[in-house]
Amino acid sequence: MAQEVRGVIAPGKDEPVRIETIVVPDPGPGEAVVQIQACGVCHTDLHYKQGGISDDYPFLLGHEAAGVVESVGAGVTDVAPGDFVVLNWRAVCGTCRACLRGRPWYCFDTHNAEQKMTLASTGQELSPALGIGAFAEKTLVAAGQCTKVDPAVAPEVAGLLGCGVMAGIGAAINTGNVGRGDTVAVIGCGGVGDAAVAGSYLAGAAKVIAVDIDDRKLETARTMGATHTVNSRDTDPVEAIRELTGGFGADVVIEAVGRPETYRQAFYARDLAGTVVLVGVPTPEMKLELPLLDVFGRGGALKSSWYGDCLPSRDFPMLIDLHLQGRLPLDKFVTETIRLDEVEQAFERMHSGDVLRSVVVL
Ligand SMILES: [Zn+2]
Ligand SMILES: [Zn+2]
Repeated sequence: MAQEVRGVIAPGKDEPVRIETIVVPDPGPGEAVVQIQACGVCHTDLHYKQGGISDDYPFLLGHEAAGVVESVGAGVTDVAPGDFVVLNWRAVCGTCRACLRGRPWYCFDTHNAEQKMTLASTGQELSPALGIGAFAEKTLVAAGQCTKVDPAVAPEVAGLLGCGVMAGIGAAINTGNVGRGDTVAVIGCGGVGDAAVAGSYLAGAAKVIAVDIDDRKLETARTMGATHTVNSRDTDPVEAIRELTGGFGADVVIEAVGRPETYRQAFYARDLAGTVVLVGVPTPEMKLELPLLDVFGRGGALKSSWYGDCLPSRDFPMLIDLHLQGRLPLDKFVTETIRLDEVEQAFERMHSGDVLRSVVVL
């Protein structure tokens, strides 16, 4: 039987979000209904609300979530009712050209639940944020979006792996391939940048240089494993990074802002044959200009990192285990826990700069 639960809806462009009763269908073939325990508030939710992603209102917001599988549809074997899971927004297909070449983290045909959740009042179909929609007591997803992890972890900590924190850690360990002894610089120390710092530290980087224009953010980056900090408001970050790396530049520079000027900094702050990883998300009007000779002459790799090139089935359980062993401070990303009816205020607090993540706990 379809169920009625409460969920946070973005009804239209720039309208305040509100709680509505939503209808969650029983899971069909390949689907699962998950009882949500916690869901982080991400900038992407705010972009949905503001119309920056699409016009498919109403949106059911929330996508950095952990919870317990309540029921599964026909043919689901990887997860079962009672499993504690972290939700991901890329259920890999297993059959596209990337999957068939053994690179499922690049899957070009990821999928979501086929059935739609609806508004109880009007019957209108909802667009779940990133195919998840987890600011709700329950949500319907493709079973492949559920990744089982050790239930000993706190749900408000585990859920954050589902998006920004995974993007940052993965930018370092998957895309950047940071290894023992590497020097790393991370430009932009919000949630994703801090996660890149934590990932670099975890991977054994000898130096992790955090760059931001806000001293409070640099302080936080230190608690995540940054060995050096540079305030790029008063110091040229390229010069500073070179100085801290024997005059050469860092082996890996992670750009977690997504702007042409910070990308140029990243490009020139890396050592010859070094790697630049772009994990910050640019906007459509941005253009990058670089001397092509420098692109050629400096060698190395210029890479982009989508969702940290993660494979949830491989990365989520491993990172939760490392957290439980005290080797990865995922709990430090939780600035505050809030109720389902406080999402709008959490959006407002995002601009203040002193919140890494507000997490809705249900
Ligand atoms: Zn997110
Ligand atoms: Zn695929």
